[in-house]
Amino acid sequence: EDEKIMIEGALKLSEKNVRDVMTPINHVFTVCEEEIIDYDFMGRVSDAGYSRIPVTKRGGRNSDITGLLFLRDLVMLDPDDNTIVSTVTNFYKHQLMTVDQDMKLDDMLEEFKKNHHHLSLVTMPIQTGTETDSKAERETCGIITLEDIIEEIICDEIVDE
Ligand code: ADP
Repeated sequence: EDEKIMIEGALKLSEKNVRDVMTPINHVFTVCEEEIIDYDFMGRVSDAGYSRIPVTKRGGRNSDITGLLFLRDLVMLDPDDNTIVSTVTNFYKHQLMTVDQDMKLDDMLEEFKKNHHHLSLVTMPIQTGTETDSKAERETCGIITLEDIIEEIICDEIVDE
């Protein structure tokens, strides 16, 4: 029975888009690249509990993401050293993956497998008035993780019926 549910969930991946399951950018826990990694910072990051944290540009909004900080990057740091976030991100240089909000979930799963990543930024074209600009600029509207897709495979049928 579990297998049936999972197979049905997997088959439905082609019917859903990244935007249907992503975490909207205003709900994403981020840190700023210029922040000092002190006790307060460690406390906030630990309370948030996420293993991957998008890093925003100095003075930027949540959607201005320049890097990625992993919780595990912090374990060897001494909060008394006042290390800056950008020092850590420049050291590890975790690649940022970006996908369009309209990508189908089965393709998204393939992207994660191909890139060996667990988190991707999700982007959408910026609405500029009435014109549909083919080279329109894009902005980040959310994040998606492997977990979001696995949840679809495992839970979908249970929630639906
Ligand atoms: P973690 O490993 O940190 O628990 P998962 O990859 O298991 O994160 O994702 C669990 C859920 O949390 C997913 O819905 C994902 O979109 C969301 N998520 C992951 N990282 C963050 C973050 N930094 N801020 C907000 N939500 C996040």
